Amino acid sequence: MAKGLLIVLSGPSGVGKGTILKQFINDPDLNLGLSISMTTRKMREGEKDGVNYYFVSKEEFLRTRDEGGLLEWAQFVGNYYGTPLKEVERLRNEGKNVLLEIEVEGCKQIKEKVPDVLTIFIVPPSMQELEKRIRGRGTEAEEVVQQRLAKAEKELDMMREYKYCVCNDDARLAADIIRAIILRHMELNKNEG
Ligand code: 5GP
Repeated sequence: MAKGLLIVLSGPSGVGKGTILKQFINDPDLNLGLSISMTTRKMREGEKDGVNYYFVSKEEFLRTRDEGGLLEWAQFVGNYYGTPLKEVERLRNEGKNVLLEIEVEGCKQIKEKVPDVLTIFIVPPSMQELEKRIRGRGTEAEEVVQQRLAKAEKELDMMREYKYCVCNDDARLAADIIRAIILRHMELNKNEG
């Protein structure tokens, strides 16, 4: 059995990654496994430990990182985020296509370690629209909103590092495009395997 694909999905905070993901993550044709990241950020209302993230202390995060337990890690607006290595490997060895929803620094690290990673970046239709979406979520203090917007500008500069860029003007269309990209790469992976 061919090892599953490793797929990185990035895009600025508020771009709608979650909404897009929901539309294809359970599609049986894509055979996807979603990697659950570790973070030191506080849990938001409605989030669950072990579902949205593994919410850990800074000490636990740094210990896992220093023991080589993370495939990649990054600091984002004052918190640590990282991908647990073991789970990703286990899922890929089972033939699952593993999807990581991570930011750009993490993607850079993965490109060095896993050259055949499939990278997809979701672009907002405009910065104004992005700001509206971040504010509309209403979960962050003004200072954090400003930090996330500044970070978004920087992240958009990095989109040329990705193999595919998909505009989220319409979430369903964006999801369909990503679905088509993954299906095609599954086919290519099968032929190579
Ligand atoms: P949020 O706090 O909004 O859940 O996530 C903030 C940012 O961290 C998002 O861009 C998200 O994609 C990214 N992120 C989530 N998990 C990871 C991870 O494991 N590694 C890296 N590098 N970024 C992550």
